[in-house]
Amino acid sequence: MSSAVCRLAPSPTGAQHLGNARTFLIAYWSARSQNARLILRIEDIDSPRIKPWATEQAITDLNWLGMDWDGDPIIQTERSPLYDQAREQLLGADRVYPCSCTRRDIEAAASAPHESTASGWTPDAPVYPGTCAGWNNGDPFPEDKPFCFRFRMHAKPDRFFDRVHGEVTCDPIRDIGDFPITRKAETAADCLAAYQLAVVIDDIDAGVTEVVRGDDLILSTFRQLQLYEALGHSPPSHAHVPLVTGTDGRRLAKRHGDTRLSHFREQGMTPETIVRWAAKTSGLCPDSDDSLKDMTLDEIHQKLIGQFDWVRIHRRPTIVDDFGSSEA
Ligand code: GLU
Repeated sequence: MSSAVCRLAPSPTGAQHLGNARTFLIAYWSARSQNARLILRIEDIDSPRIKPWATEQAITDLNWLGMDWDGDPIIQTERSPLYDQAREQLLGADRVYPCSCTRRDIEAAASAPHESTASGWTPDAPVYPGTCAGWNNGDPFPEDKPFCFRFRMHAKPDRFFDRVHGEVTCDPIRDIGDFPITRKAETAADCLAAYQLAVVIDDIDAGVTEVVRGDDLILSTFRQLQLYEALGHSPPSHAHVPLVTGTDGRRLAKRHGDTRLSHFREQGMTPETIVRWAAKTSGLCPDSDDSLKDMTLDEIHQKLIGQFDWVRIHRRPTIVDDFGSSEA
């Protein structure tokens, strides 16, 4: 095994669908092509949206598609002390402040978002107007309202090299702004970590060297790069892979029909069908290559691992129309 560490990081907020499958498969092929250690992390800290059945189902889905990983799954909800420690470190460095603004307060006070960043990405949230940013470390925490901890975004780093999209730039202050690293609570100790903090701490803790995920998270990478810097760690490399969308160009959702992996499994579709589709639509295997048709699941994986190269991955989203009948 090399010193590279990669990860699969499903969120059990619902069933995993075709788009998730393709992202996991690309992450898997990349990891195995580097002879990396591959961890499975269950990102279950988004408590109101977590479904109790979804972790087990995600593991079944990954196994069904022929993926394996090294060691036991890492479960975010079991790791709060680590996140709390990082929150305290950021507080001590005056890099976070308590913020009691509601979503509505922020929407009302935020200026209209810019249409796009310098690299053409659409801002993913209203830019925080700075209402609570005057707080200094040592000032009292709000007593009358719940608050979260919000991270002070700096102007840099404002660029990174993405293995799929090349150099990506933005203006972190104008396009993104200060962002929450915890959920809201009545006391500082009860403020549980939110996605941005948990993912960075977990990736640091596991020594992750490559992050592969959907390109809907590309702007979050600017948030996370600043967290790495504030915590004194160097970031992993990043590869943001295009999403799978419906014919309306929107990311796959219920309105596009049933694209859950569990649904295809119950319908009797083979995992080879999905893995071949992922290999072709991602660009890793030319459309004209019929050789995958006669291979077992394991042979398909071995072939894709053997010829894995980020240069081949398409940047455009893949459109899916009635997958079940067109692919079977
Ligand atoms: N859990 C996220 C997802 O399922 C991925 C987050 C990440 O890779 O940082 O989309």
